Amino acid sequence: MLLEKKGLSIAMLKLDPYLNVDPGTMSPYQHGEVYVTDDGAETDLDLGHYYRYTNSPLTRASNATSGQIYHQVIKRERRGDYLGKTVQVIPHITDEIKLRILQCAKQKENIDVVLVEIGGTVGDIESLPFLEAIRQFQYEHRGNCLNIHLTYVPFLKAAKEVKTKPSQHSVQVLREIGLFPDIILCRCENNLDLDVKEKISLFCNVPLQAVIEETDVEFSIYEVPLRLHEQKLDQMICERLNLPNSSIELKDWEAIIEKIRHPKGTIKVGIVGKYVQHHDAYKSVFEALYHAAIHAGYQLEIVPIEADKVSEDPSLPHALQDCDGYLVPGGFGERGWMGKILTAKYCRENNIPYFGICLGMQVMAVEFARHVLNIEDANSTEIEPMTKNPIISLLSEQKNVQDLGGTMRLGAHECQLQLDSKAFEAYQKPVILERHRHRYEFNNAYREKAEEKGLRLTGTLAGEDLCEIAEIQNHRWMIGVQFHPEFLSKPTQPHPLFLKFVEAMIQMHKEKTA
Ligand code: GLN
Repeated sequence: MLLEKKGLSIAMLKLDPYLNVDPGTMSPYQHGEVYVTDDGAETDLDLGHYYRYTNSPLTRASNATSGQIYHQVIKRERRGDYLGKTVQVIPHITDEIKLRILQCAKQKENIDVVLVEIGGTVGDIESLPFLEAIRQFQYEHRGNCLNIHLTYVPFLKAAKEVKTKPSQHSVQVLREIGLFPDIILCRCENNLDLDVKEKISLFCNVPLQAVIEETDVEFSIYEVPLRLHEQKLDQMICERLNLPNSSIELKDWEAIIEKIRHPKGTIKVGIVGKYVQHHDAYKSVFEALYHAAIHAGYQLEIVPIEADKVSEDPSLPHALQDCDGYLVPGGFGERGWMGKILTAKYCRENNIPYFGICLGMQVMAVEFARHVLNIEDANSTEIEPMTKNPIISLLSEQKNVQDLGGTMRLGAHECQLQLDSKAFEAYQKPVILERHRHRYEFNNAYREKAEEKGLRLTGTLAGEDLCEIAEIQNHRWMIGVQFHPEFLSKPTQPHPLFLKFVEAMIQMHKEKTA
């Protein structure tokens, strides 16, 4: 973001040392959210951070795992492309890694800088080929590379002491590999004393001003770039890489932090899901909610509600903890299904704002069928494959799919909005582009009946009948979307649906406290 403010065009690449081909088949408990790009890649959640701060192109070429890299090399070996040579980590795997860096740079024309983030920790066995590839890359592109090493500088509370040893040690390991950090970013709890920074500077072989603090921030992670700019990180990078080094303004980001510091009030949103205890599982959803709340000038309290517990609790209002609105996020499988249905019913009957995303939309449709259309056994075939009333059923394109990895309906698709809908009110345009990740859809056999009774399908896949948005009529704000709007929200550009959802919650809050 700081480099972009200088007028530079950037691309970002996340290198992940694990052997999965992508995080698509990994449990959110293991890995957190799966971030989806326009071109349908299932990627690491860090790409979501990249999206929120920058305008970097984000495609399949923005994330590479060891799994993908080995897969590619082994495919070539099977084709006989290596002409009888022994295939090895060096040079074949490292060549493929270097190629990925160059491919990332080619996602768009005239990229000035590629920022490559290597996941994991220095010393991990898995990350060694990546570090070796970086060493070679630097040797081959002398003068055009810069190493920024992120280290942890712990504060030991009991001893009231800051420890620089982990930094010293990881830099020592990097040196053995032939990598020499130019800048050390110190992840720390409190600001570092001069003597600590001097010690890191001396032991790690970098000038004092290249020891940069990345201290816990008080209000929001969106403050972090401001703190890095104060320490002249952007200036230093441009000097070292001989890039134009104009001074920059960060007024838009400063304004965001100002708004966060002085909220008009607090609203409470309940997230009813299966992975709520794992903070990273719904990362983009949480961030999108924050962006909208910041924009509206409100502080947001996120109340994680375990969907399982909702159906076990004899009192629904008690289980749902009196929030100003509820969001049911994406998900898979049966666990928590009943709790989500009860949440949708509670919101529909009590005129409480509800936002259903992907599975959350499917929940909303099934609840409506059961309790308004009186189809008691209505269900999704994902939950009950033999149900007699499949309101939600498998997409026809999915019928012959065997493999689980990378085979869902993925990526950006156009959706046409009805002009007299709440969705149109939010977007203010008739055609939108949103990203998808699902296998099931609303079953059109139930469409007429549903619309008659007040479940309107107000957004459909352009040129086809596939339901993308459903709205409950005569309700203050109850919308379900088959896509994932959370992937397209930034603090500088909150997503229109999240904005409207937050507005509805503020209204609800005002009425409750009046
Ligand atoms: N499990 C549902 C489907 O596959 C919803 C997916 C999701 O919420 N991302 O259609």
